[in-house]
Amino acid sequence: MKRITAFLISAAVLLSLFVFSACENQSYTKSFFALNTFCTVTVDASDKAAADEIARKISEAEKVFSATRSDSELYKINKEGGGELSKELYSVLKRALEINALLPAFDPSLYNLTLLWGFGSEPSVPSEKDISDLLLHTGADKITLTDGAVTLSGGAMIDLGAIAKGYLSEAAKEILISHGVERAVVNLGGNVYIHGKKQSGADYKVGIKKPYTEEIVATVTGEDLFYVTSGSYERYFTENGKSYCHILDPKTGYPAESGLYSVTVISKDGTAADALSTAFFIMGAKASMEYIEKTGVCEAVFITEAKEIIITKGLKDCFTLLDSSYTLKD
Ligand code: AMP
Ligand code: MG
Repeated sequence: MKRITAFLISAAVLLSLFVFSACENQSYTKSFFALNTFCTVTVDASDKAAADEIARKISEAEKVFSATRSDSELYKINKEGGGELSKELYSVLKRALEINALLPAFDPSLYNLTLLWGFGSEPSVPSEKDISDLLLHTGADKITLTDGAVTLSGGAMIDLGAIAKGYLSEAAKEILISHGVERAVVNLGGNVYIHGKKQSGADYKVGIKKPYTEEIVATVTGEDLFYVTSGSYERYFTENGKSYCHILDPKTGYPAESGLYSVTVISKDGTAADALSTAFFIMGAKASMEYIEKTGVCEAVFITEAKEIIITKGLKDCFTLLDSSYTLKD
């Protein structure tokens, strides 16, 4: 009993987005732990088979994308410095490299640095020399993708932890469509996909977490959209009074310090939303807003350490601030 309680508490801590009144009466929620996070799929009870298939798909995907599981495809690639890739791993890695070419802050080659910082085990601040030495062995130029295969040079290691869940949210969407599901909410540890509208015909409301709490600071409404949050509070440790989060700046090798608590990206493209939220967290609100205004690639909500909230223009009519200790910036 004690173990179950501990599991539920830690799982709840991992969620960055909450969805209000998932599906109304007679809903079915499939909960499972995969990809290092707590996942839920909520559908109408009559669509149980779709939720079960999504859970199976996500759990199976660990054997492809996990950098930590010793039986995964990615683990083997990292260990052997490359090799043949399954179609799925190839396409996500290709996408990751394409996004890196546009936004270098998103860098899938940093796994060595993540290990050096001890994220996933016992984190601590490494020496400056160890960081600068390892930085020489990171960068997308160390990953060469050719027809169905990859070569890693200089000991670089791939980490798709900032994009794989987004890709899998899209896979979940495909499963929902193939089953003809009308409404569903898929939450893969902060990667939320909203499918359709509530039974009442109203839009679902997605809650954005108030940093470092289990409360909601604001809500956003919408349908058939992916909502992905990257936040400093998701995984961090404190040493000598300073906090260090799990998102690393590829320029420095240190955890990102861009003045943000979190960024939530909202998009029709789940894979991009995941990668962009990570990149924007590193880039900070100003540079990210400029990028969004230039490209129109997504909508976003930035929560700064100064307790200000910045939203993109497209969210004006569907964003509601709930917490008066935060200010919505014009
Ligand atoms: P997310 O929660 O989607 O922002 O992804 C964070 C995870 O992506 C981390 O736990 C690392 O595994 C990995 N990661 C850290 N820094 C980066 C980065 N700059 N680019 C891509 N992935 C990163
Ligand atoms: Mg991400």
